Amino acid sequence: MFSLMANCCSWFKRWREPVRKVTLVMVGLDNAGKTATAKGIQGECPEDVAPTVGFSKIDLRQGKFEVTIFDLGGGKRIRGIWKNYYAESYGVIFVVDSSDEERMEETKETMSEVLRHPRISGKPVLVLANKQDKEGALGEADVIECLSLEKLVNEHKCLCQIEPCSAILGYGKKIDKSIKKGLYWLLHIIARDFEALNERIQKDTIEQRALEEQEKRERAERVRKLQEERKQKEGEEAELDGTGDLAELDPEPMNPFRPIASVIIENEKKLEKEKKKQTMEKVSDDCNPKHNTEHDEIETQSQINDNGQKSNKFGLVENYKEALTQQLENEDDTDQRSSESDSGKKKTRKLRMKRSHRVEPVNTDDSAPKSPTPPPPALPIGWGTPKVTRLPKLEPLGETRHNDFYGKPLPPLAVRQRPNSDAHDVIS
Ligand code: GDP
Repeated sequence: MFSLMANCCSWFKRWREPVRKVTLVMVGLDNAGKTATAKGIQGECPEDVAPTVGFSKIDLRQGKFEVTIFDLGGGKRIRGIWKNYYAESYGVIFVVDSSDEERMEETKETMSEVLRHPRISGKPVLVLANKQDKEGALGEADVIECLSLEKLVNEHKCLCQIEPCSAILGYGKKIDKSIKKGLYWLLHIIARDFEALNERIQKDTIEQRALEEQEKRERAERVRKLQEERKQKEGEEAELDGTGDLAELDPEPMNPFRPIASVIIENEKKLEKEKKKQTMEKVSDDCNPKHNTEHDEIETQSQINDNGQKSNKFGLVENYKEALTQQLENEDDTDQRSSESDSGKKKTRKLRMKRSHRVEPVNTDDSAPKSPTPPPPALPIGWGTPKVTRLPKLEPLGETRHNDFYGKPLPPLAVRQRPNSDAHDVIS
């Protein structure tokens, strides 16, 4: 009766125990069978699994434990990330490919590195000697020997259990019993030392987070510095580009709206200056007879090149001037033709103003065109000359004097206003 009551009390105590969250890391060389093992534990078919590239996480419920297992990739270059998960791990699952004798040395070194780490030393380690189904796979004792496991775990004060298993034998409830047994053992050890382990993990995790933050800040600072350097470099390069050929040709800021005539004048002045410079150089050359033949040849060649360039420049300006004059003439012709219609006149004037790039006072007298209008085409004989009746020039109202039939002056014209109106629209 007393024992029954004791059993009930312990069951009740366990029932009231809070759910414990436990994190485990699953490590080992690539191709050892980590993902297959993880899948099997999770209840998924472990066959046809692809090797872990980064990491995968599985969650499972085991009694009063909520277990999270981090399945970390085992490739040589990715092993560096393992340490980031050590702080929060309560224990380690180390998977070994027992059939790969060639990589046993590498496995040993890797395991040694893991157990040596200050955030792992002293924590429980489960070694799964996987792929036992394979022919020639090393047995438990051989694996212990190959890895010098006893020495390692003693050195780093890690409680250890080795389980020879095969991850592909089954999954879920039918998972290899050795894997199940190993997992129970690990959780049991963790449960036993939970308080101590938990305290260490809390402390380590805080430190790890602070370290990560610091690393993050340092990385951000490095990136900022690199960006600054790059910006500075780009600025310097842009400055160098800015003082290139263009600036040499025209150091003054170019006004895009200056008249074309002034551009031509400027170019002519530039050419004149260059010509003067050339003449001066020639004179100084004549005065300085210290030239050897080779040098002279080079000089002559460069002069030829220079002159070629200058004549090219001069020619370009001349051609441009000619083309411009021709274009203006052509446009003038077109304008004249279009000036026949009254509506075209205004457009023409606007165009002319645009072309000259100058604002000139506009001649408002439309009756006096700038260029003589072509004579009207001769009409065929028999049609008669058309009568051009010009209207007399209008004079201001109220000032005109008219004479009557006998030559007597008539009274001035009076403008009668409409009642209630301002407009002078009735002439009497
Ligand atoms: P990981 O890189 O450690 O994650 O290795 P995987 O779990 O991806 O497994 C690598 C290969 O080994 C896969 O083709 C698996 O099917 C195979 N494999 C895993 N465990 C066993 C096992 O117990 N026996 C056999 N014969 N093959 C296995």
